[in-house]
Formats: sequence, C-alpha cells, structure tokens
Amino acid sequence: MPLIDPKETIAVLKKYNFIFNKRFGQNFLIDAHVLQKILRAAELSKDDAVLEIGPGIGTMTQALSEHAGRVFAVEIDETLIPILEDTLSGCDNVTVINEDALKLDIAGLVSRECPGKKLKVVANLPYYVTTPIIMRLLEEHLPVESITVMVQKEVAYRMQAGPGTKDYGALSLSVQYYSEPYLAANVPMNCFMPRPNVDSAVIRLSVLPEPSVKAQDPALLFKLIRAAFSQRRKTLSNSLKNSPELSFSKEEIDKAIRTCGFPPVVRGEALSLREFSALSDALKGGESG
Ligand code: SAM
Repeated sequence: MPLIDPKETIAVLKKYNFIFNKRFGQNFLIDAHVLQKILRAAELSKDDAVLEIGPGIGTMTQALSEHAGRVFAVEIDETLIPILEDTLSGCDNVTVINEDALKLDIAGLVSRECPGKKLKVVANLPYYVTTPIIMRLLEEHLPVESITVMVQKEVAYRMQAGPGTKDYGALSLSVQYYSEPYLAANVPMNCFMPRPNVDSAVIRLSVLPEPSVKAQDPALLFKLIRAAFSQRRKTLSNSLKNSPELSFSKEEIDKAIRTCGFPPVVRGEALSLREFSALSDALKGGESG
C-alpha cells in the first residue's frame, strides 16, 4: 500500500513513534490527486534524474522512483532516515542523503553520480526555507532543468506575478530573471498531515538557459529591484535615492528615468523586468564615476 494513503502514513508514524518536528516544517502529503498533479507538472521520464528536497517518510519519493530514472532524496532530519530505509526498501533507484539541502554540494553530486545530466527538482518544500532553497537553486548556476515545488500559496502567487499586481515584488523579478514560472495547482490545507495553517500551491519553474534579460550589470539591476520594493509606496526616484545600496544623485536617477521614457512619478511596482533592466543600463551609462 503506498504511503499517500493516509491510513498507511498513520501506520508508519505509529510504528516508528515519529514525533513531528515543527522546526523542520514537517507537513506530509496525504492526497493522491495532489501527488498526481505534482508528477504531471514535473513531466518526468525514465531518462530523468530527480532531486527531492525533504522526502519526509518517503511518500512522494515512492512515486518519483516509479516515474524517474534516478532519485536523490535529501532529508535534514536524521530521525527520518531509518523510516526511509524501510519505506523505500523496494526502490533501487533512490539514494537518500542525510543533509541540509541548503548546504548539499549539488554540482558535485551530479558530476559524481550522473555526469552531464541536469536535475529536475521536485519537492513539497518546508515553508520556513522555501525562498532560500529556490533562490539557491536559481542563483548558483547549478545543473538544474526545472523546479516543481509545493509552496505556500502566497509565495507561489508572488513568484509568477506581473507588474501592477499586489503580489508583484522582488521575488517575482528574481524568479523570472532565471526561470519561467507556471502555476500548476492550488492545494487546500487538508491535504497534509499535520494540517498547516495556510493553503499551498504547486509551481513549476523551467530554468532558462540564459537570464530572461541581458542587463550590463546584473548586480546593479538587483540593487535597483531591492530598492524599488523596499519602499514600494514611494516613487521609484525617491526609493532609489533613499537606498543605502545605491549612491546615484537625484539628477542621475531622474535623468535615467527620463531616458527610459518612464513618467517622473513612476513607482517600481509598475515596471517590468525588461524596464528595470533598461533603467539599470541607463544608470550604468550615465555614471559619473
Ligand atoms: N516530501 C514529504 C511529503 O510530501 O510528505 C515531506 C514534506 S515536508 C513539507 C518537508 C520535509 O523537508 C520534511 O521531511 C523536513 O524534515 C525536510 N526538511 C526541512 N528542512 C530541510 C532542509 N534544510 N534540507 C532538507 N530537508 C529539509
């Protein structure tokens, strides 16, 4: 009987006297329809190597083992390792790694275990580290092809939001710089054990071979984005002027905003990633040194 059946999950938890550790964001999936939606969104084949972050008791890992060629499952909680040895005993293509996903040497793992492959990351992510894990996978130029993850609904919405919406912000722009997001499903809280206090969503990020915009100075682009959204109710000009990360004069900022053809009172939340990139190039070009 697969673990996705709630009765089976309860039986395993009882057998091992497992105590949920709040610190690790442990909410185990118990809904077969949701599991199917995740698998469909991840578009797996037997050619694929999958990295699962946080296998828990192995519910999703069992299904990943069936659909992919190799599965690397990295779990931080050592009390889950003997349970995984039991629940995944029939899954020869699964390697369980007892480590923190934020520290795992992913490039080393790939070059040792499946050289030349790009991983598909699939996970029901612990909410407390969702953003650091996703940004690590995107920013560190790792061999990753796609990231299909269950996250808190608000975070999924922020990742795929466009200009002028309430969810649009620095996370939307960072994610969309490196990848193309696709919201695959909304997931209510009763699909987990224990039940979290928030709803979830499944999002797939297809990692782009090159960033979606070509800014001359990507570090400057991200400083502008952070500055614009750290004071999102202010005009862009004022937010950039007030940012401790930037040292442009008001004249330089206003000139760059004019050069790009934006209204003088424009707010950062109205600009697309392409427009932020144009602004960073205009500021770079107009630098007084
Ligand atoms: N995949 C399982 C499922 O869907 O039922 C469990 C998902 S649960 C939301 C998150 C899992 O991630 C837990 O097993 C937790 O112990 C693990 N975890 C938390 N922080 C982690 C980290 N930094 N690195 C690796 N695993 C982590």
